[in-house]
Amino acid sequence: MRLPSPFTITGGRIIDPATGTDAIGSIEIRDGAITAVNLDAAPPSGPTIDATGLIVAPGLIDPHVHLREPGQTHKEDIESGSRAAAAGGFTTVCCMPNTTPALDNVAAIVNVERRAQEVGLCRVRVVAAATVARQGQKPVDFAALASAGAVAFSDDGDGIEDDAVCSAVMAGIKNVDSVLFPHCEFKALSHSGAVHLGPVSRQLGLVGYDPHGEEAMIERDLALVAKLGVRYHVAHVSTAKGIALIADAKRRKLPVTTEVCPHHLLLCDTDVLRADGTPDPNFKMSPPLRSATDRAACIEAVRSRVIDCVVTDHAPHTASEKNAPFERAPMGIVGLETSLACAARALLDPPAFDWPDLIERMSTAPARIFRLPGGTLRVGAPADVVLIDPDRAWDVDPQQFHSRSQNTPFGGWRLTGRAVCTLLAGRITHLDAAQRDRLIAKSDF
Ligand SMILES: [Zn+2]
Repeated sequence: MRLPSPFTITGGRIIDPATGTDAIGSIEIRDGAITAVNLDAAPPSGPTIDATGLIVAPGLIDPHVHLREPGQTHKEDIESGSRAAAAGGFTTVCCMPNTTPALDNVAAIVNVERRAQEVGLCRVRVVAAATVARQGQKPVDFAALASAGAVAFSDDGDGIEDDAVCSAVMAGIKNVDSVLFPHCEFKALSHSGAVHLGPVSRQLGLVGYDPHGEEAMIERDLALVAKLGVRYHVAHVSTAKGIALIADAKRRKLPVTTEVCPHHLLLCDTDVLRADGTPDPNFKMSPPLRSATDRAACIEAVRSRVIDCVVTDHAPHTASEKNAPFERAPMGIVGLETSLACAARALLDPPAFDWPDLIERMSTAPARIFRLPGGTLRVGAPADVVLIDPDRAWDVDPQQFHSRSQNTPFGGWRLTGRAVCTLLAGRITHLDAAQRDRLIAKSDF
């Protein structure tokens, strides 16, 4: 929905971690950009949206989503994924390259960005493959892909196992001042199991997904980063030891950042079991749900900033794919429409960790790490804004998702906190039906 220009969002709790703002006020939007932030009772410019009782924050940014286009559009495509993102409060997402074929060439990047612009619901930036066809052998043309718009490089889904290839990839990425965004896993060590290695995998008689596979690659990579100095962002860290390695690298001032997914903050391996003791494929992902100790380490690390961002790893699969026997069901769950409320549930503990901290991890930090537009409400920034009702309780009904897939472990959960209105460059890309009257009818458009 296009709005008049200028207009003003009034009465909300303005949270902008980039400027340290957390106060009631108004923001003026003109020609798609933020043109004023007023924390006093300045008269509004143009029509107003009344955000009383709501948080007004920079649009959420998720650097780790799988949009499945090209090649797997029965699971998701750029349009359905953008719709899901907007509904979740996101204004920018970065899509991973494990499509069919992989996003390892300039034309593929240009196609994704063009399609995302046609859809117009969310900024979509590309994380390009780090090696040709994600085969872990031949580095891609980093300079060409970075100039075409790739914001980072990853073979997500697979680790770059060969030491020499990984060194070459890091050197190439360093040359173009981009970011290596690795899925850390030596498959010979992790055994690509179905469930985290532990009592649950033993009880089920399934191959255990050994955390050592993840930790050993983080350790190998950090030694290379210390030598080569490339910016390095560990994807979806999930173990206490992996976090400790990253904390140590940060103490040594290496250019290292990392992220965690809401499911690793809220669930652990015992949650995989249904009441009848069988495992539920909607709790299967890579890395897997770990132990309760690992989960506690993840939460603590977000609070202490060892973990920089909370990301979804939104990974759609159809019901028929997920309904396969657990061992054969594909890895991954959707997350864009539950991420904010799940992260709030896992992390909020005011005043020690309050909404500004959460917005920082879900918008400001990813913008900074991947040099993306947005992540702030500063004057001059694009008007990428989310209005959040922090008190709104709602039931997760996967049938209501905008995503093409419903593979979530959170179906039936009652969560609190929801994006009720998302604006991309000053246009409404999502408006919660229950809030429409409150926001628009009461507004003087
Ligand atoms: Zn991954």
